[in-house]
Amino acid sequence: MNITFLGACGVVTGSCYLINIDNKNILLDCGIYQGKDSDEIKNSSFEFNPQDIDYLILSHAHIDHSGKIPLLYKKGFRGKIICTKSTKDLCSVMLPDSAHIIEYETKWKNKSRKKKNLPEIEPLYDVETAKKTLPLFEGHEYNENITLFSGFEITLLDSGHLLGAAIIKIHINKDKDKFDFVFSGDIGNINIPILKDPTKINFSDYIMIETTYGSKDHKNPRDELKKLARIITDTFKKGGNVIIPSFAVGRTQEVIYTLNNYVEKNIFKNIKVYIDSPLSSECTEIFQKYEKDYDKEAKDLLKKGDNPLDFHGLFFTKSKEESIALKDIEKGAVIISSSGMCDAGRIKHHLLNNLSRSECSVVFVGYQAEGTLGKRILDGDKKVKIFGKEIEVNSSIYNLQSLSCHADKKGLLSWIKNFNPKPKKIILVHGEESSRESFKNALEKEGFKVICPKLGEKLSL
Ligand SMILES: [Zn+2]
Repeated sequence: MNITFLGACGVVTGSCYLINIDNKNILLDCGIYQGKDSDEIKNSSFEFNPQDIDYLILSHAHIDHSGKIPLLYKKGFRGKIICTKSTKDLCSVMLPDSAHIIEYETKWKNKSRKKKNLPEIEPLYDVETAKKTLPLFEGHEYNENITLFSGFEITLLDSGHLLGAAIIKIHINKDKDKFDFVFSGDIGNINIPILKDPTKINFSDYIMIETTYGSKDHKNPRDELKKLARIITDTFKKGGNVIIPSFAVGRTQEVIYTLNNYVEKNIFKNIKVYIDSPLSSECTEIFQKYEKDYDKEAKDLLKKGDNPLDFHGLFFTKSKEESIALKDIEKGAVIISSSGMCDAGRIKHHLLNNLSRSECSVVFVGYQAEGTLGKRILDGDKKVKIFGKEIEVNSSIYNLQSLSCHADKKGLLSWIKNFNPKPKKIILVHGEESSRESFKNALEKEGFKVICPKLGEKLSL
């Protein structure tokens, strides 16, 4: 079996790996590059012929893992996309949404190109193409044994990172090749609302694992959530709003869950929480459909009759007009909007309206990639540009990144230590170079054999 590393090597986006075995081509993830990694050339092409791909095994719905699927289709891919049922459902709204953002951004780019007398560019893909990929998706349950072809069996295990997110366990049983290969996908943080902890696995010959937080440890997410309550109370006292840039899927539902707990315990009375993202609303409905995959705590709430993703004072704004009307709210509102790194979407309008007001707060609850607006605000820039306007940053900025849906260094290490005996090789991907190096050192200290493949490198197993 050969594996070629085609993305997320030394960076955290663009997850994509190509397995070749027995004249079959299997892609693991087909993600897009985002933030500073976003590269027009890398995003608009493939290092292989999409028509030659037989299967795409998709770890989860996040766009840095799935965002190039419509382009893959556009360039001729007609194979099967294997994932969990909930990932399939999430992709059915997230891919068209991604296409929508791409079309919108291309329109903007073309406006400025026209002024410079440059020819128009085409969007990477459009909404229609994104929708055409959906019949290729084949949804499975966690823990089901799926035979793709003779001697190639996979199992999707709960990775605790996002609804439907999976660790991909591959069992190869060929004449010459007999081994297990585990691709971690994104490994979840422990103690996160709604989601279960990552599945422990005790055997594999090879592991390919993400290293987003390979050099950092998180604080306890539950303590961070307590901080959120205090920030909201203090901001309301000052007469401001709390703005939370949040990934539409995953983090937003975790924040809703947390606020629901506070409302149920009467910590907040008459709070108004606006989820200003049509995608978030749709994804929240999908979350509600998969209650069977919730962790015990969330299931216990359901048993008591409390829907953990709904409470009095929670509003989903759908139309543009409803979203614009939020501009008139001066105080006492929590506005949760996407994109999570503030580079696109309605969040930019809310930052434009609130960032310069000292009585307001902006709370970051997720990873901010280098080069994004979110990262600049988080790094303490005193002025930022939004829609071409220079805005002073006077509001209080908070960083609750321990709410991350990624395991920290300790979490990754302890997950790997479940494997007994030690795997023959551990392949590190999906992390900034410094993070990957730091995690490599930590693993080598424990006696593991580790490799950090470069982009484009091919490995024979
Ligand atoms: Zn992810």
